[in-house]
Amino acid sequence: MIDLRSDTVTRPSRAMLAAMLDAETGDDVWGDDPTVLRLQSTVAERAGKEAGLFFPSGTQSNLAALMAHCARGDEYIVGQLAHTYKYEGGGAAVLGSIQPQPLENAPDGTLPLAKIAAAIKPIDNHFARTRLLALENTIGGKVLPAGYVDEAVQLARSRGLATHLDGARVCNAAVASEKPIAALCAPFDSISICFSKGLGAPVGSVLVGSQALIESAHRWRKVLGGGMRQSGVLAAACLYALDHNVERLAEDHANAAHLANGLAQIEQVKVESQATNMVFAQFPQAHCAPLEASLKERGILTQMLYASRFVTHLDLTRADIDTFVSAVKQYFAQHA
Ligand SMILES: *Cc1c(COP(=O)(O)O)cnc(C)c1O
Repeated sequence: MIDLRSDTVTRPSRAMLAAMLDAETGDDVWGDDPTVLRLQSTVAERAGKEAGLFFPSGTQSNLAALMAHCARGDEYIVGQLAHTYKYEGGGAAVLGSIQPQPLENAPDGTLPLAKIAAAIKPIDNHFARTRLLALENTIGGKVLPAGYVDEAVQLARSRGLATHLDGARVCNAAVASEKPIAALCAPFDSISICFSKGLGAPVGSVLVGSQALIESAHRWRKVLGGGMRQSGVLAAACLYALDHNVERLAEDHANAAHLANGLAQIEQVKVESQATNMVFAQFPQAHCAPLEASLKERGILTQMLYASRFVTHLDLTRADIDTFVSAVKQYFAQHA
């Protein structure tokens, strides 16, 4: 199968499974799993932070971070398109009693500084207490401009807010901008990093930040049901991914550029954007469902919408991309 729906669809390789098989384990709820401890300290070091904490999912890692930063009745400023706001079931509000203050994202994924400044509420019993600015990098595949991040974080700090980065794909951002991961994490108080996306692990995210923040998130992880036992088998996959699957993200980015170029040559397709491992393209509405079905018959999985997203990853080769593009070409040749 050629699966372009997401970078979450990768399967653990034999070498990754071998690393999992060999993992030394213990009960991590007791803090006894040496592989989990090694993953947490390794990721903290790579991100330039004091401490790390292993989570079963990025959703839980983000939520525990929000709950560590904000108390009941506090508020976080976030983009309308941000994962922590739009794609996590409203967890901050539902489970954290934290009010989101969503702002419209600019086309490059940023939140305009003037809108952030205007959304920060004065200390007044009428208002929720604005406590946190949450950004996302990459967002829709796009790398946030470094200058923007510095300015936004500076603004947040100057108004007494903490800052969190949903860095699910921060490794893609680091590779694309040819910077160390720590450089992209440096401005933020906390960062959540996913291992089950482009890094190719089956499960897992790591939250990094100060010792104090991670201690608070540790308590919330337990409350949220995220305490795991011999999770060293999972942490071993993440350690393997850190060693083998970070630099190679450049291949995914090159494949996404190749895919965008290929689609751009098809008259009926309008490529909207390509950045890191994602391509967004528009297809004639009437053709979306039949095209998706026709591709599926050829073993190509997509989610064809008027505005479709295609994601490259380590289980896709350059030849797979070519197969996909020529299948789309053939479809439109037959349905002109
Ligand atoms: C995938 C993702 C997450 C976390 O998702 P899980 O499926 O819970 O691991 C968070 N933020 C972004 C931007 C993501 O893409």
